[in-house]
Amino acid sequence: MECGHTNFLTEGLVEENMIEGIAASNGVAIAKAYQLTSPDLTFEKKPIDNPNKEIERLDKALEISKQELEKIKAHTKKEIGDEHAEIFSAHLLVLGDPEMINPMKEKINNDNVMAEVALEETANMFIDMFKNMDNEYMRERAADIQDVTKRVLAHLLGATFPDPALIDEEVIVIANDLTPSDTAQLNRQFVQGFATDIGGRTSHSAIMARSLEIPAVVGTKEITKSVKQGEMVIVDGIEGNVIVNPSDEDLKFYREKQETFAKQKEEWAKLKDEPTITSDGEQVELAANIGTPEDVAGVLDNGGEGIGLYRTEFLYMGKSELPTEDEQYDAYKSVLEQMEGKPVVVRTLDIGGDKELSYLDLPDELNPFLGFRAIRFCLENENVFRTQLRALLRASVHGNLKIMFPMIATLEEFRQAKAILLDEKEDLKREDVEVADNIEVGIMVEIPSTAVTAKQFAKEVDFFSIGTNDLIQYTMAADRMNERVSYLYQPYHPAILNLVNNVIEAAHGEDKWVGMCGEMAGDSIAIPILLGLGLDEFSMSATSILPARTQIRGLSKEKMASYKDKLLSMGTSEEVVEFVKEKTE
Ligand code: PEP
Ligand code: MG
Repeated sequence: MECGHTNFLTEGLVEENMIEGIAASNGVAIAKAYQLTSPDLTFEKKPIDNPNKEIERLDKALEISKQELEKIKAHTKKEIGDEHAEIFSAHLLVLGDPEMINPMKEKINNDNVMAEVALEETANMFIDMFKNMDNEYMRERAADIQDVTKRVLAHLLGATFPDPALIDEEVIVIANDLTPSDTAQLNRQFVQGFATDIGGRTSHSAIMARSLEIPAVVGTKEITKSVKQGEMVIVDGIEGNVIVNPSDEDLKFYREKQETFAKQKEEWAKLKDEPTITSDGEQVELAANIGTPEDVAGVLDNGGEGIGLYRTEFLYMGKSELPTEDEQYDAYKSVLEQMEGKPVVVRTLDIGGDKELSYLDLPDELNPFLGFRAIRFCLENENVFRTQLRALLRASVHGNLKIMFPMIATLEEFRQAKAILLDEKEDLKREDVEVADNIEVGIMVEIPSTAVTAKQFAKEVDFFSIGTNDLIQYTMAADRMNERVSYLYQPYHPAILNLVNNVIEAAHGEDKWVGMCGEMAGDSIAIPILLGLGLDEFSMSATSILPARTQIRGLSKEKMASYKDKLLSMGTSEEVVEFVKEKTE
């Protein structure tokens, strides 16, 4: 079961050309499909009769690839920054390297082979050589050569090598999945929406779609096979459907739906500067989850009262090396300054699981979500952790910073992480660097062991933020990325509600505040329950804030609290949903 703010505008057309998926980001988009899938790069080896012609073909493919990469590099530099553009400089270097290109041409002449064969065999030789080197930098070059070779080969075969950064007309991106760096490259001006084969509402492509405010449907299983490049498609991110080759009637229906949604947004926008107060006068905080400093503008536009989760891993992604202390400082300072004293909860690096960093060269794991990730990685790679903590501490004077550690499973981990933080603080003070005095230090509660022992944690932490995206998958033993077990991914299951309640009671018992930054916090069925359980802060995608505020203003906290015992003792998720619907209608 997926959650979302989707129980309005529930009408839809059931049709043959409709593919069902999971509603990942609200809104309706209508545009041509842009397939972001890798082309088939297999080819049949054929004898050649004119080596010069092959060399000419190779030169042409190299030249087109070069022009494309220049464009992508310029776009990336403009949209995401110099650091991210560097990766394409590395690709361009490969393309212009005579030590790489000359052997290809010699091979065509000497062995009488097609350009495709010469390219592939020469590249593979270099890839093998670099891959086996001890030096990490050189191993990275193997990946560059691999990427560039694919691009050139695609041009030799007359196939298009898709690049999100090259899109220059309005499109809907169709892909098997979108990695966070693919999503970061999407041009907000042209990409109207996207639809993917895999993923769920809490996969990072979905989370990014919501911060980019573009409609998205994920987990369709088959969209890449059902849509051809350039075909017209409609993405209904409200219901979670994709309509391929819409009829005139479909177009009319969805254009109206688009308009209704726009009007609904205007209604919500009226509450932008209003506090979040229930009908019986209780106030809660509505904060936003962000991935980059650029997301803050959207948070303020949507009436966010704080940042409840800044996912710092995006600073580490889409580049070839770790971000420096100064780069990080600039990013944290920018977020704190833009928020002008409103609370900003920054989560320390949560790498691992579905968030990989190729340059760290971590070994593959059988169960990455249960593996070497987040705080586990940071405590073993103290230098990486310390750099981030120093950057955060230095930035703390620019606003209202709170620091949060992810994936805490034991008290020892928290104590160890906090000790390192205090150690860095002392060091900075010794160096006469100003650091704020009042930085709260909290943890994400996303592992059942921590939710169960929240009482013990509450004595030592300043706050909790419940990470239900992971807490649900670990409690139900159902991978959040795996659509085959998505029926078990049940936010409203009484097991989850009892854990959440345990954390809230533990926090309040020690006068600590408790927030939730998992997607459940913005869900229209969960909100009344969480309000009744006493949650203090709800942190969600920026676009969910105004619908949530509208909903909360119509709810009585006291009334919802009176249902607490009944809800916690229910047997199934379905009973919970039915009950909440009945009581909030
Ligand atoms: C969570 O697990 O609920 C969470 C907010 O973190 P992430 O989605 O980044 O794992
Ligand atoms: Mg998590």
